[in-house]
Amino acid sequence: MDYKLVLNERLEEKLIHVPVGDHVAEYCPDTVKNGTKYLFCNQCNATAVLYGDGDLWASPHLDTCQLKIKEKAEADQAERRAKLLVSKGVKSQDAYDIHYAECVKNGCEVYYKAFFQMRKQLSRIYGKKLADSTLGQTAAEYCFFPNTNVRWLLKETREFAIFATDNMLRTMASASVLVVDGTFSIRPAEVEKGQILTIHALVAGENGEEWVPVAMAVLSSHEQVQYEAVVNAIKEKWQELGIEPTFGRIHCDYEQGLMNAMKLLDTADKVYGCHFHSSQAIYRAVVDCKLFRHYMDGKRRGHRHLSAIVLL
Ligand SMILES: [Zn+2]
Repeated sequence: MDYKLVLNERLEEKLIHVPVGDHVAEYCPDTVKNGTKYLFCNQCNATAVLYGDGDLWASPHLDTCQLKIKEKAEADQAERRAKLLVSKGVKSQDAYDIHYAECVKNGCEVYYKAFFQMRKQLSRIYGKKLADSTLGQTAAEYCFFPNTNVRWLLKETREFAIFATDNMLRTMASASVLVVDGTFSIRPAEVEKGQILTIHALVAGENGEEWVPVAMAVLSSHEQVQYEAVVNAIKEKWQELGIEPTFGRIHCDYEQGLMNAMKLLDTADKVYGCHFHSSQAIYRAVVDCKLFRHYMDGKRRGHRHLSAIVLL
């Protein structure tokens, strides 16, 4: 009987797949005696024996045993092999793409998960390969870019770390529009109120205007003092490099501490709210006031028009 060794959940090559028509039976090893492996079905515990010479004998599966479709089993294995590649240092997207191509070749790509569904797990595996960093003690390899030796870490304390190269700071100073926003979904693990604050600049690129990140800060709180510390670190470097900020305006959400701090980046009149966050706030208020149904049926358009007032 045909069989092949495949990866288990822990990415060890310990499972055995045996084709059964359009399906695949998956066996786990039980014991080994004199080179003979005793196996059991993952689904119904039916037994099988794999002899040292490669011969495989299998008892029938229970009627209730739900074997995986061949293509699904192959795609699941491709996912595990992608994880294995990442654990060896290949970047998530590259490992994903390699195995996607393989699935296309085997005709099982419809069962292969989308990248966004695998991304978190893959980057967690990749993250285990990265050097440990804690606030105030960023690993040396993240302070400078490895090939060019360009400085990336601008300033760090035990409360925050801000990353921006001189060129990024130049771009920031002269951009027409800046936006600043924090994310809480990816943040330092050791602090409860941590966040990653990012500043993007709108710059003229080859194919028209595009948004580029010009600063990133790892923060341990939502307090104004910390936002101000970020602003001060940027301003100090601008001064040192002889850069005059001429950016047109900066948009942020309606967090008071953040707005106050951004007013210190240059003049206060350059700080604007943000239509996305304003609409989000209105929408949340609509939900809080239990007006969601009216918002959706569109009969009372007032709630929707509210978000547009700022555009008049
Ligand atoms: Zn079975």
